[in-house]
Amino acid sequence: MRLLLANDDGVYSPGLLALAHVARRFGDVRIVAPDVEQSSMGHAITHSRPLRVKRTPIADFEAYRVNGTPADCVALGLDMGDADVVLSGINLGPNLGNAMWHSGTLAAAKQAALLGRRGIALSTPVGDDEPDFAALAPHVTRVLELLLSDADASALALVNVNFPPAPRGLCWARQAVQHYDGVVVPVKDPFGRPLSWITVRPLEEVEEGTDLWAVREGYVSLTPLRLDLTDAAALEAARARTPSA
Ligand code: MN
Repeated sequence: MRLLLANDDGVYSPGLLALAHVARRFGDVRIVAPDVEQSSMGHAITHSRPLRVKRTPIADFEAYRVNGTPADCVALGLDMGDADVVLSGINLGPNLGNAMWHSGTLAAAKQAALLGRRGIALSTPVGDDEPDFAALAPHVTRVLELLLSDADASALALVNVNFPPAPRGLCWARQAVQHYDGVVVPVKDPFGRPLSWITVRPLEEVEEGTDLWAVREGYVSLTPLRLDLTDAAALEAARARTPSA
């Protein structure tokens, strides 16, 4: 199996190296990742300037750094040589619920799906210390065994995975939909000039069965996703109210 690894934390992230060490048990690993952090860049692609790809030493892995976005890295990485699956992460920070809309980690996996390959995004929360990737490794292995051995790969073409610090099992979970406050907090820089922080404090309680709930309860959450964002029920209702003309 050929595995392309990307992330949004940058090519030198310890989470990417931890993922690479697990991934090599499943096949040939190539790393193509942003040269600097691109967290919360979402699914941006670079179309108005050329991109530079530089080979870079990451342990003994074949690795490249790119002055672009996570999605750029996947496009370039697949162009260098095909891959059966793109793994993105392990992100330093969760990508649950509404964070999926902003996530560069997930965007790399989505880019794989857009290009007809499988994509798996992997994330874990960060506390005061760096995540214990050695302790997570068996859980990452188990998830990849589960997802990569599935006979019906097309049914799990795009999966978002989040690991709590000390997982007690796996849980298939749907994406939580939590609105957030989006309050803009004014602050000042050291020279007294105004700056703004945008907050993302959730407004609703965590619902059982969601990815947020699963990780809060100590489970690894696995959420199969699809590229089609259409709200099928709303579409049908709109058609019924106002037939297309
Ligand atoms: Mn990140």
